[in-house]
Formats: sequence, C-alpha cells, structure tokens
Amino acid sequence: MAEIKLSEMRDLTRIERIGAHSHIRGLGLDSSLEARSVSEGMVGQTQARKSAGIILQMIKEGKIAGRAVLLAGQPGTGKTAIAMGMAKSLGDSTPFASISASEIFSLEMSKTEALMQAFRRAIGVRIKEETEIIEGEVVEVSIDRPAAAGAASKSGKLTLKTTEMETVYDLGVKMIEALGKEKVQSGDVIAIDKASGKITKLGRSFARSRDYDAMGPQTKFVQCPDGELQKRKEVVHIVTLHEIDVINSRTQGFLALFTGDTGEIRAEVREQIDTKVAEWREEGKAEIIPGVLFIDEVHMLDIECFSFLNRALENEMAPILVVATNRGITTIRGTNYKSPHGIPIDLLDRLLIITTQPFSEDEIRKILDIRCQEEGVDMSEEAMVLLTKIGVETTLRYAINLITGAALACQKRKGKIVEMEDISRVYQLFLDVKRSTQYLMEYQSQYMF
Ligand code: ATP
Repeated sequence: MAEIKLSEMRDLTRIERIGAHSHIRGLGLDSSLEARSVSEGMVGQTQARKSAGIILQMIKEGKIAGRAVLLAGQPGTGKTAIAMGMAKSLGDSTPFASISASEIFSLEMSKTEALMQAFRRAIGVRIKEETEIIEGEVVEVSIDRPAAAGAASKSGKLTLKTTEMETVYDLGVKMIEALGKEKVQSGDVIAIDKASGKITKLGRSFARSRDYDAMGPQTKFVQCPDGELQKRKEVVHIVTLHEIDVINSRTQGFLALFTGDTGEIRAEVREQIDTKVAEWREEGKAEIIPGVLFIDEVHMLDIECFSFLNRALENEMAPILVVATNRGITTIRGTNYKSPHGIPIDLLDRLLIITTQPFSEDEIRKILDIRCQEEGVDMSEEAMVLLTKIGVETTLRYAINLITGAALACQKRKGKIVEMEDISRVYQLFLDVKRSTQYLMEYQSQYMF
C-alpha cells in the first residue's frame, strides 16, 4: 500500500433508509439532564436515558476512559435504542456500530478479527482535504472588516457563486490584472463593486469603517486568503477506520463495504493506516471521532473475546462500548465459572450498569405513533388501539413490523388510511413468536420424522 486511497473514500455514500431506529435522534434530555417523557423520538425509559446522559457528560469531561456501559433488561426494552440515542446526542457524524455477540462466531474470520472490525466501524476520522474549485460552485471567501477606532471589527464569510464571477481563481487573476503589476497579497482587503465589477485594492491598512460605508452597500469586501486567491478549497470527509481499512486492503475496494464481504484485514494494513492517521492528526489534517459500539447479547462472547475487549478499551482511540444482556448469573463461555451476566469480573469492574424496564401500554402506543410518522403511514384510532393491544400481547418489535405490512394491505384495497381490517389481515399473515411456537407444538407430529 503505497498511498492511502482517499479518492475512493470521497465516493463513499451511505444509503439512507428508514431503519428500525431511524426515529431516534438523541436521548431526549433537557439541559439539566432530566429525561423528557417524549423527546427526540424517545419515549419513556426515563431513568435509563437519564443515566446514559450522565455517562455521556462524564465522557465529555474525560472522566471515564477505559470504562464501558452495560444495559441490563428484558428483550424489547429498547437497549439498542438507548445506545443509538447516546451516539446521536454526541453529534450526527458520530459513528454507531451495532452487533449481536453471536454474529462474531463465523467461519469467515476469527472472533477477534470480527470484534476488531466492529471496533473500527465505531471510530470515525474527520479528514480535511484540499480540492480544486470547479466552475459554478458556490464557495466561501473570508471577509474581514478590521476594527475602526472605537468600533468592533466585523468578520465573516462571503459566499460567491463562481458562475457569476467565473471561478474564484479567475476572479483572483482578474483582481491581480486590475491592479497592474502589483500582486495581491495575503491579508489584503479588496473592494469589488458588484454593479460595475470595478476592483479596488484597499491594502492591509484599510481600517476605517467610514471608508467601507462610503463605498455603499453594493460593494463586497474580500480579504485575500493568499496571493493566488482560492483556487483550491478545503473539504471534509468523515469515514470510519474500518472503511479506510477495507478500501486499502482489497482489490475490489470500497464495494466490499456494501456487500459486507470484507474478509480478514491484515495486521500490516491496519498498522500502516494507524500510522498514516496519526500523521494526519499531527499535521492537523484529521481528527478522531470516537463513536459508540453496541454489542447485544454480550453473554454470548467467550473468555478470549472478553480479554480482547479489556485490551481494546485501553486504546486511546477506543469508542464508547455499550454492551447489553438479559441474562442474570450464567456461565462465562469458554470457562466453567459462573458470573453475573456471564461477564468476567475484571470486565464487570469497568462497567457502569443501567437497567431498562418493560414499556407501559401508553408508551407502546406513543412509540407506535412515532413509527407511523416515520414511515409516513396514516392510521385510524381503532387500528392504532388494536395495534397497541398486539404490541402489549406480543412484542413491541412485532407490532412495529406490522405497520409496513398493514400499510401495504391498505394500499392494495385502495384505502386512504390504515384501518383495523388491515391490521388484522397482517396479524393473521405473520405469526409472532408465541403463536408460531404454539403452531409448531400443535402440529409437532407432522414435523418429526
Ligand atoms: P433490545 O435490545 O432491548 O431487545 P431493541 O432496542 O433492540 O431492544 P426493541 O426494544 O425491540 O429493540 O425496540 C423495537 C423498536 O422500538 C425499535 O424500532 C426501537 O427503535 C424502538 N424503541 C425502543 N425503545 C424506544 C424508546 N424508548 N423510545 C422510542 N422508540 C423506542
């Protein structure tokens, strides 16, 4: 790998879709970290959300390096949603990676490689890069009005559309021509009359605000960023370390990110990438954005994986690790020992534990309402009451899944809003776990040989 491939990273577009947790936009806390009952897509679970918010505060203050969070609670109590809310409240560009512990046991790669990939999916790199300005682009040029005696200085950004004035580079050349042999220098202030296009160099010492005012509102003042003006501009990409790894380790490049067929990544590739990223950081070209890594069913990990986690948490780039389980005292996989949640004591010691509670009927209804809005589905009051009942009797996730099906059933009968009949139709078509188990028990003899 001679050079880290940046160009392909620019082509990386994320496919946006309505995912199971796409309505979650934060933890829904107020400024004193109290959970609002419904906010940022979050409903109920106030104690857990508040605790998660306090942990984030500690992270921001740099107080919990090397620690992790354990969400303990029954399935379907929104543990993933809380982990996602944590990532979202750290900012939209904060990476969030989620895996179920059982996923790492595959034939294609070792367990620790799968965990390593998950960790690197949760570490973002904000890369600043310079590119050419293309004609027609809208670019920002810094403008500065130095302080007049007794007045505050004014500075800000000026937006120029390069079609109006050719490219900003051409504009720079024009300025230099207009000013004869004299070169425009960094820091020079230039006045451009928008009507006539007349350009006047005002120089660095142009500091009297009445001179600005005298030139009228049609005048733009541009402070030259450098002698060439802006032929190039700075762009920012955010990619994850895992994306950089994949792009640089496979001949098929970034397409592997979409197929998921990333294979094992060689340790040398990662070392080179880490060295390069460290260089970029030193040069001020890159910043690390630690994200959130969520590992569900953490009791499914074995002792080797747990020691990997312990080590990985020590890394200065480590993401916030949030693990979840619904188990009590159970055996630690790969050992004969039992421990709380099947997690070894040394890792348990690092964990801040948050518990989640089952949702009330009213909360289920509110979540279903939010999901209908998210999916753009109109539902009648009776249909919503029935769907809520189904959510209470089966699981919230099952009820949420019925929304899409019911909307299709409604479309098929050319209805405008989802009615009870649509809900009952899909309820009959798709079994929930309870009914499916019951069915299999009743017809057991036909399934056995
Ligand atoms: P768990 O990991 O506890 O099994 P989960 O987060 O993976 O839970 P569910 O709890 O089954 O999944 O959540 C089902 C759906 O409900 C998801 O779409 C999730 O985003 C949403 N959801 C869960 N908790 C909340 C909440 N407190 N507020 C709003 N939506 C929620």
